[in-house]
Amino acid sequence: MDLAALIRDVPDFPKPGIVFKDITPLLGDPSALAQAIAGLAAPWSGRGITKVMGIESRGFILAPSVALELGAGFIPARKPGKLPWTAVRQAYGLEYGTDAIEVHIDAVGPADRVLIIDDVLATGGTAGAALALCKRQGATVVGCGFLVELGFLGGRAKLDVPVQAVLRY
Ligand code: AMP
Repeated sequence: MDLAALIRDVPDFPKPGIVFKDITPLLGDPSALAQAIAGLAAPWSGRGITKVMGIESRGFILAPSVALELGAGFIPARKPGKLPWTAVRQAYGLEYGTDAIEVHIDAVGPADRVLIIDDVLATGGTAGAALALCKRQGATVVGCGFLVELGFLGGRAKLDVPVQAVLRY
């Protein structure tokens, strides 16, 4: 089925000039949701993934289902100050502002083979920060997977690991 038809363009959200890719129509369709999760997981099957890291907020919607498909665990990469335990932080630039993400210090380690998942790859700052956090903790990042890649923003070039996207614009 045509997943792209279920992604809604919302102009000028959350700021003027940004065309927001709203994935909620896709999430609400059972067949599309199943196809999206299968499409996110398939490239990484048999690659020994131990942890799937989802990036707050919309990465949280997709990553746990991908983790289940791959027989891996799920790790939340959260906005600063949300995690209860000792966390490591990485700042990054966003298509619309700046931010930082944190993971628990014991969430990933040298024994882990990590897949990073988010809904949209834009400039690559967010996924790049997740990648940097995993590397700082000694983990191997096998790759990054996205539902949507905004190819014209060139984010893929910031990620020095294999990148797969279900849909590209
Ligand atoms: P970036 O760090 O620039 O690659 O931005 C990626 C992050 O920002 C992801 O977590 C996305 O959810 C969000 N994001 C950036 N641009 C958009 C967009 N045009 N539509 C929806 N989400 C976006």
